[in-house]
Amino acid sequence: MSIRAIVAQHPGGPEVLEFVEVGDPKPGPGEILVQTTGVGVNFIETYQRSGLYQVPFPFTPGAEGSGRVLELGEGASGFEPGDLIATAEARASYADRFVVEAAKAVRVPEGIATDVAAAIPLQGLTAHYLATSAATPEPGETALVHAGAGGVGLLLTQILVTRGVRVITTVSTPEKRELSLAAGAAEVLDYEGFAERARELTGGEGVAVAYDGVGKTTFDGSLDALRVRGELVLFGGASGPVPPFDLQRLNAGGALSVTRPSLAYFLLTPEERAWRYGELFAGIAEGEINIRIGARFPLAEAAAAHEALEGRRTTGKVILEP
Ligand code: NDP
Repeated sequence: MSIRAIVAQHPGGPEVLEFVEVGDPKPGPGEILVQTTGVGVNFIETYQRSGLYQVPFPFTPGAEGSGRVLELGEGASGFEPGDLIATAEARASYADRFVVEAAKAVRVPEGIATDVAAAIPLQGLTAHYLATSAATPEPGETALVHAGAGGVGLLLTQILVTRGVRVITTVSTPEKRELSLAAGAAEVLDYEGFAERARELTGGEGVAVAYDGVGKTTFDGSLDALRVRGELVLFGGASGPVPPFDLQRLNAGGALSVTRPSLAYFLLTPEERAWRYGELFAGIAEGEINIRIGARFPLAEAAAAHEALEGRRTTGKVILEP
């Protein structure tokens, strides 16, 4: 039997993403086969598609998705056929069916719709580890979050605010400004002059933590916005990779720190994964975390989804629907 999937034969622009028939994936030992109900689109897939991050081609993108369990591979446990699962750690989820290690999937709690389930794991777990582990701003401290109306940005803002942190964000349009304010941002800034403005808004001191997923165009300003012993968490490069920089800048800025984390290193054990999912789902159930799906595309139109994401035309989560 065959299924349909997005395949890129070689690196390139969004147009390399073709919707084609491929062989039906089979679950290996410890894995489950899932009938896709939703695919989460994430910025990393644009880096992989363009060749910025090295992946083997032909390549089917996708780490995030939701769906119904169809089949369990040898030794896989914890699920039954028909269960609705979600994951941030699948292989090739831009497809009608995908495979994931059973240990890296989670059963979706009652009350969460099948498509919303695909919008939660990757950006949700990322926002959770950024707020609780990569840096730990204290209640009353101020954090700067770039791209405040983006997928990670909206969730990170909400999680920080529930933890008592004052959040300042940057966004590029008035619509994004409104979304960021609704997520709980105390102040929403333009990118132009954001470092000076963040400093003014903290009485000249600077912010305790700057969360920067924009990268190339914001990195310098993020360093300038930090208080003494402030921390810069560089977690992505939506505007491009950050060039090498002089470590003396950390000294001159007042014993600053920079870290460059990624999600895989914050899901190291089953317990850590369960803790993060547990807090995320609880926050959603209690209404503290609102999942915004800003755009939906048919799976076949993954190229249009990438164009919109890279073109800064999206807010919140971007979903593909099989
Ligand atoms: P977003 O929904 O945040 O989309 C990216 C946003 O970045 C845009 O909407 C735009 O918002 C802003 N941006 C600023 N400059 C540019 C530019 N030149 N080109 C495109 N976008 C720009 O995406 P995600 O939430 O999926 O990801 C956000 C970041 O987090 C990415 O860098 C991603 O790689 C990273 N990430 C890192 C993870 C990790 O563990 N390290 C895990 C998940 C994501 P605006 O128009 O308001 O400026």
